[in-house]
Amino acid sequence: MNRSVSRRGFLEKAAGATAGVAALKGFPNLNLNYGVGLPEGLPLVLVSGSKTWASDAAWGVLKDGGEALDAVHAGAMAAEVYPRDSSVGVGGSPNEDGVIQLDCSIMDGKSMQCGAVGCIEGIEHPSTAARQVMEWTDHCMIVGPYATEFARKMGHTVTDISSEGSRDWYRRWIGRHSDSDDWFNAAESAAKMKRELPPSELGRRQRELERNHGTINVLAVDVRRDVAGCTTTSGLSGKIPGRCGDSPIIGAGLYVLRDVGAAGFTGRGEEVIRVCGSFTVCEQMRRGLSPTEASREAIRRMVDETNEGNANFSDNAVAINVKGEHGSFTVSGRSRYTIHNTDGRQTIQGEARL
Ligand code: ASP
Repeated sequence: MNRSVSRRGFLEKAAGATAGVAALKGFPNLNLNYGVGLPEGLPLVLVSGSKTWASDAAWGVLKDGGEALDAVHAGAMAAEVYPRDSSVGVGGSPNEDGVIQLDCSIMDGKSMQCGAVGCIEGIEHPSTAARQVMEWTDHCMIVGPYATEFARKMGHTVTDISSEGSRDWYRRWIGRHSDSDDWFNAAESAAKMKRELPPSELGRRQRELERNHGTINVLAVDVRRDVAGCTTTSGLSGKIPGRCGDSPIIGAGLYVLRDVGAAGFTGRGEEVIRVCGSFTVCEQMRRGLSPTEASREAIRRMVDETNEGNANFSDNAVAINVKGEHGSFTVSGRSRYTIHNTDGRQTIQGEARL
C-alpha cells in the first residue's frame, strides 16, 4: 500500500469527521481533533504470532476511528472462535482432566480499568466476560466456577466448547503422558496416528501433539492515542485443573499504561508471573525504552532472576507505544508478531538475542 496516499486519505477522513461533528453545540469536552498531528504508524494494532484473523478484526474497528478497547476486544473475539486456533477459546487446549479452562484479561488505558476471568469453562468469549467484570463490577478478576456463573448471569450461554481437534488431542495426550496407567502409551498412540492419517495430515497433527501452549495478545493505540490490550488463552495443555497462568493476571500476561503503551506475554506463564512481565515492559517504556528494548529488559530479568541464565522456556513479550512503535523479544529464538496500521498488515520477526 502506498504510504503517503493511504495516510493522507486516512487523515482527511478523520479531519472530515471532525469538521462534520465539530458543528455540534453543547459538547465542550468532546475531543474531536483526533487523527490530526498523529504520529506515523498510528492508529496501530499488534497481535502476537501471525493470527491475521485477529489483527484484521481489530483493525476493522480502529480504521474508522473506533476505540482501542473495542478493537482489542474484537481481535480477541475473532481468535476465540477461529476454528483452526487450538490454543484460544473454542477448541482450545484441554487440561489434565480433558476440560478446557480459559484465562483472559482486558485493560483500558484511558480509564486504567481492567477485568479478568480465570479457569472459566464452557464460555465462547472469555474476553467479553473479562470486559464485563471490568465494566459491570467493582472487581478486577473472577475465577473458576464463579467466573462461569458470572458469565451466565451476564447473558452468555454455557456450552461445550471442545472441538473434534481438542478431543482428539486429549485422547492422544493421555495415551502418551504416562506409562503407568491403562491408556495406550506414546509409541502405540503415535503408531495408531501413523496408520490412521494420510501422510499430508501427519506432520501437522504431530506438531499439534507437541504443542504445550498458545495464547494471543491483542494490543492497540487508537486515533485519540488511547491504548488498550487483551490477552486470551486456554493456557498450557494438560495443565493441572484450576491452574491460572499469567494471561488473566494484570501486570503479568497483560498491562497497559495510559500515555505510554501496552505489553503482553505468551509462553510459560509461571516465569512471566514471577517477574510481573507486562508491567515490567510498560515501566521500561515509561522510562523511555523502545518496545523492543523494554521487552528485552523483561526477558533478561526473567532469564537472570528466575532461571539462573538457563532458559529452557519459550516466553515472548510484545509491546507497542503511543508513538506508533512496536517490538517483541523472546527467549526461544522464534518470535513473530503481526501489526496493522495505515500502511497495511505486516508480520514481523521479533528480536531474540539477549
Ligand atoms: N501464557 C500461557 C499460560 O501460561 C500459555 C501461552 O502463552 O502459551 O497459560
